Amino acid sequence: MGIEDNFLRIRKILPRKVSLVAVSKTRDVGDILMLYRLGHKVFGENKAQELIGKQPLLPADIQWHFIGHLQSNKVKYIAPFVNLIESADSLHLLSEINKQAAKHDRVIDCLLQMYIATEETKFGLTPEEASDILDSSEYLNMKNIRIRGVMGMASLTDDHQRIRQEFRMLNDIFRNLKSTFFATTGSFSEISMGMSGDWEIAVEEGATIVRIGSAIFGERP
Ligand SMILES: *Cc1c(COP(=O)(O)O)cnc(C)c1O
Repeated sequence: MGIEDNFLRIRKILPRKVSLVAVSKTRDVGDILMLYRLGHKVFGENKAQELIGKQPLLPADIQWHFIGHLQSNKVKYIAPFVNLIESADSLHLLSEINKQAAKHDRVIDCLLQMYIATEETKFGLTPEEASDILDSSEYLNMKNIRIRGVMGMASLTDDHQRIRQEFRMLNDIFRNLKSTFFATTGSFSEISMGMSGDWEIAVEEGATIVRIGSAIFGERP
């Protein structure tokens, strides 16, 4: 099946209230335009270099989510236009995002990337680290970022029960952070979880954003 059919099939079964990020990493602008012409505007990239190469070639009303590990020295390149940085995983990075956002007179939305997998290799914060950030005076003084919720990646496994537990853990973390730090902040509302292989489980466990690449665009080279 082609990209358009894949997209339409997923869009049809995905509940309306769940946002779909089409993960376009490694895909060329032609593939992105194919979905844009169907009315889809939210795309995800995981490398700053690749994103800043594509962004100027594509319509300005595309909403770009940054979903990969972001080095502080790359923030300045995406700060003028990025819509949501889903992978904020340190106070240092948030501080740089805040600084670059201020230069462009913007408030940049971010998600805290949480560590939920049982693999050493995945990035992300523990609940304690997230609490320490949100408690810090440095964070409280940041006027040019807005934390909208959490993001996480489940383990790469066929064990659906384990994936479900990890997503459930992320939902618990979200609710704890919400009640402790954002009880009166309506904009803290997003749980980004679920990829091509596990998004249906993620939706059942309360995802508000799913990030789907290969199930739309086909296997990456
Ligand atoms: C690549 C990627 C995805 C999408 O992966 P697929 O399995 O192709 O759907 C989602 N989230 C992140 C953080 C990614 O890097």
